[in-house]
Amino acid sequence: MRGGLDEVLSGDEIWMCLQCGKCEQRCPQNTGLKDMFTRLRELSIKKGNRVRIIEDKIKMLLEEGYAMPKRSGVRKRMNISEAPKIDATQIKGILKRAKEDGADDK
Ligand code: SF4
Repeated sequence: MRGGLDEVLSGDEIWMCLQCGKCEQRCPQNTGLKDMFTRLRELSIKKGNRVRIIEDKIKMLLEEGYAMPKRSGVRKRMNISEAPKIDATQIKGILKRAKEDGADDK
């Protein structure tokens, strides 16, 4: 709104929306923000911006099979057993094929 579109498109904030729709539920005009964040993400990708948050998630998936931190300390405090180890072989195959398919589209 202040004219800093390039700054917004290259920042991390637009990737933090969980698309949960709670803002839409609370908005008196049923507008919310998720559609705006979706559009900004599309514009960011079209501009060729690298999405560090997504790259970090892919790296975690490849290394541990999880896209979120396992939060061992939190699990321990809540008396929940450790998250099981995941064989990331299939995930690696899916991501490799997706990358190859993406390269075919260019
Ligand atoms: S902006 Fe709206 S849809 Fe996105 S995380 Fe916040 S409440 Fe959820």
